[in-house]
Amino acid sequence: MIGFTPDARQLEIKEKYRDFVNRWVIPNRLKYDQLAEFPWEIVKAAYNEGIMNGPMPSKFGGNDYSILDGALASEELGAGCIGIGISIDANTLALTPLYLAANDAQQKKFFGLINDQKAVAAYALTEPNAGSDVAGIKSSAIKHGDKYLLNGHKRYITNAEASSFITVFALTNPEKGARSLTAFVVPTDSPGIEIKPRLQKMGQKASVQNELIFHDVEIPEENRLGDEGTGFLIAMKTFDRTRTGVAALSVGNARAAYEIALKWAKNRIQFGAPITANQGVSFMLADMATEIEAARLLTWNAAWAYDNGLKVASKLSAMSKLFASDVGMKVTTDAVQVMGGEGYSTEFAVEKMMRDAKLCQIYEGTNQIQRLVISKSILK
Ligand SMILES: Cc1cc2nc3c(=O)[nH]c(=O)nc-3n(C[C@H](O)[C@H](O)[C@H](O)COP(=O)(O)OP(=O)(O)OC[C@H]3O[C@@H](n4cnc5c(N)ncnc54)[C@H](O)[C@@H]3O)c2cc1C
Repeated sequence: MIGFTPDARQLEIKEKYRDFVNRWVIPNRLKYDQLAEFPWEIVKAAYNEGIMNGPMPSKFGGNDYSILDGALASEELGAGCIGIGISIDANTLALTPLYLAANDAQQKKFFGLINDQKAVAAYALTEPNAGSDVAGIKSSAIKHGDKYLLNGHKRYITNAEASSFITVFALTNPEKGARSLTAFVVPTDSPGIEIKPRLQKMGQKASVQNELIFHDVEIPEENRLGDEGTGFLIAMKTFDRTRTGVAALSVGNARAAYEIALKWAKNRIQFGAPITANQGVSFMLADMATEIEAARLLTWNAAWAYDNGLKVASKLSAMSKLFASDVGMKVTTDAVQVMGGEGYSTEFAVEKMMRDAKLCQIYEGTNQIQRLVISKSILK
């Protein structure tokens, strides 16, 4: 029997996030879109109300959410503001390598630090010459006694300037290349870390990104996650867990834009009738509703497959991120079109939703890279 209805517990999760979004996110989204700074007040409130780190273990302050639970939560955050949503979800991204590979002592220490201080973490994989091509990473962490010395350059690191620690991927043996890629937990106040001014960008402005330069940063051996050389696998397994979150943020953002456009269109009179009397408009709305539904179901299916340990989960999560973020871009663009000049104005936030949607086609692996993952899986 196949079921598509969230159960009572999952409906409670949706309701809890929707309520948080109505009180904290929607009233502040345009402010942060203009300020373009980290939404500390909202993240603190999210900690106070159990909104942060949902898929992390409850014994370490999380909510034990499944990936499907997390997708339900992320859709609600995305319906409020993807920029604020990703400030919250990027924390989960940074903690996921710890969830996957840290020993108990490391989990206790770093999850403890995050929860006790209501702190934020960042995930640093991308470099100026290694974006889609993760195997091109050049940052190195060379062992000297019981420490590693980290040198290198990371780019576009979400939450970096706000973070207490950063999960950094670096080579322990540059001659071996990506086969020596290793994950480390690096406290952001470690001597030798240079945090560059934040990136100026098109959308998702409530989320901040920085370049990071590492100059002989000392990392104690006990901050290494897993064995040397397991970093590539950890990074890929992390994305298998988090891509459905990006898909769900896209679905939420598309839903919000569609709902605003639908309500507006029903009341907009031109040529003596609501504009929805024209098939040119009503069919656009029909397509938007259909695409959102399809994107949501694919996202739920991918998350469900992950939660049930199915082999197809990796391919499905790539499909969900690809499809839902493309739907997000199309639906928000159509929402602006349905609303004409009002859509293009900032008043209804629909133009912001369109700007925000674009980034979901780029981060956590561009949609071309998702197609690479999918095609490799179906051609092997
Ligand atoms: C706002 C923002 C936030 C980010 N947050 C983080 C973060 O927190 N941590 C982190 O580590 N990274 C982060 N990133 C980095 C992000 O994941 C990369 O930007 C993304 O993976 C693409 O890398 P790139 O920008 O170097 O583009 P490139 O890899 O240079 O790609 C450029 C274009 O070429 C295409 N392309 C490249 N290779 C192929 C191929 N083999 N086949 C087909 N097309 C290809 C790409 O799809 C793209 O269209 C963030 C980026 C942005 C913009």
